[in-house]
Amino acid sequence: MKKLFDVKRLVTAGTPAQFPRDGKPHAVLLGRSNVGKSSLVNALTGSSAARVSKKPGKTVTINFYDTGDFYLADLPGYGYARRSAGQTKDFSSLTDTYMVRSKDRRIFIQLIDLLVGPTADDMMMLDWLVSNGESFFVAATKSDKPNAGERRASLEKMAGEPLLSGIKIVPTSVKTGEGTEEICKTVSAMLKSR
Ligand code: GDP
Repeated sequence: MKKLFDVKRLVTAGTPAQFPRDGKPHAVLLGRSNVGKSSLVNALTGSSAARVSKKPGKTVTINFYDTGDFYLADLPGYGYARRSAGQTKDFSSLTDTYMVRSKDRRIFIQLIDLLVGPTADDMMMLDWLVSNGESFFVAATKSDKPNAGERRASLEKMAGEPLLSGIKIVPTSVKTGEGTEEICKTVSAMLKSR
C-alpha cells in the first residue's frame, strides 16, 4: 500500500506521562469504533501498527505516528459497547487528559461514516470541537459504499448540519483510495495556518 505520511517512529502512550512533549504539532484522528479509523491509519502510514491496541481486552493506548514534522495521533474509537467498565474508565481518563491539554498545536480529523452520517456520539464530539474553537475537518469514510444518489444526499445533509457549517468534508475510501491525498494536503495546510 502506498504510504502518504512518512512515519519515522511510533510512540504508544498508555499514560499521559508517555505523551510526546517535544513541541511538534499534532493531527488528531477522532471517530467512533468501526468508522474505519484503523483502516485509514494503515492507508495513510502504510503501517499495520494501527491494529495493535484495537482488540477489546487490550490496554487502552494512544498511538502517535511521528512523521518528523508532526504527530498523527490515533485516539481510541469512542462508543465501544464491548469495553468493560474498567476499560471505559481508562479510555475516558487517558483520552480526556489528552483532549483537554492545550499546550500542543493541534488540528483534528473527525471521521464520520459517509453513509451513516453523524451519530449521537459524533455530534457530542463535534459539539466539543466547535465549543473549544478547535481547528478541524471531516473525513467521510467508506465513500465507496453509497451509490451516487445516497452519497449526494448524505453529503448535503452533513453540509447542512450547523456544527459542520463552513467545515471541509473529504469523502474517503481505503478501497478506492479516494480522499487520502486530500487528507494529507489538508493536514499540512491546516497545521501551517494554526
Ligand atoms: P475502526 O474500528 O474505526 O478502526 O474501523 P476499521 O478500520 O477496523 O474498519 C471497520 C470495518 O469497516 C472493517 O470491516 C473494514 O474493512 C471496513 N472499512 C474500513 N474502511 C472502509 C472503506 O473505505 N470502505 C469499505 N467498504 N469498508 C471499509
